[in-house]
Amino acid sequence: MTDASRLDSVVNAIARSATIASRQVTDVTLIAVSKTQPAEAILPLLVAGQCDYGENRVQETAAKWPLLREEWPDTVLHLVGALQSNKAEDAVRLFNVIHAVDRGSLIFALARAQDKIGRRPSCFVQVNIGDEPQKAGCAVCDVPAFLTLARHSELEIAGLMCIPPVGLESAPYFALLAKLARDNGLSGLSMGMSADYETAVSIGATHVRVGTALFGGRAT
Ligand SMILES: *Cc1c(COP(=O)(O)O)cnc(C)c1O
Repeated sequence: MTDASRLDSVVNAIARSATIASRQVTDVTLIAVSKTQPAEAILPLLVAGQCDYGENRVQETAAKWPLLREEWPDTVLHLVGALQSNKAEDAVRLFNVIHAVDRGSLIFALARAQDKIGRRPSCFVQVNIGDEPQKAGCAVCDVPAFLTLARHSELEIAGLMCIPPVGLESAPYFALLAKLARDNGLSGLSMGMSADYETAVSIGATHVRVGTALFGGRAT
């Protein structure tokens, strides 16, 4: 399959799941996760009108995107990976949306970076939804306090993000994230990847992060 026909089938699958769940397809943003993909692989999607892209490394994004963005200025860049506090300024400069705000020190670093640079990306708080010791994210029970801290620090919080445990059914974790967002007055839900984005849309995802289903395999 070409990248553009893969895009068609993912877009159609999202529309189908949204319709079945009585949701508006326009309430779901497809983020094409283009990490490790060269500009040549991204171009067909840009040409086909895909606007939102996800990257997980600040340095790779700084190398790859400025030229593409000159040509496609409406491009929206999402940081979907972990962010080190010392890269917060670069991240605020490069990204429109930051999906992995997961600790207090990063909240403070982003707040300082926003002040200095004068841009305010929208942010998702990453929740460690399966309570896995090795995984990043704010603990489920800490979400309200963490949100208070983020809001006091003037971060623009769009919603919650999660990566469910590998090898388990995603649906219950997506449902828990949706409930947490509702309980905390947030409408954004960044959840669902290549294997489970249709499930995520049926449970209320507003942002799905899809890599392999659009681009095929990754080198790393
Ligand atoms: C890589 C990545 C994705 C995309 O994963 P696929 O399984 O290739 O769709 C989504 N979200 C995050 C946080 C990622 O790191």
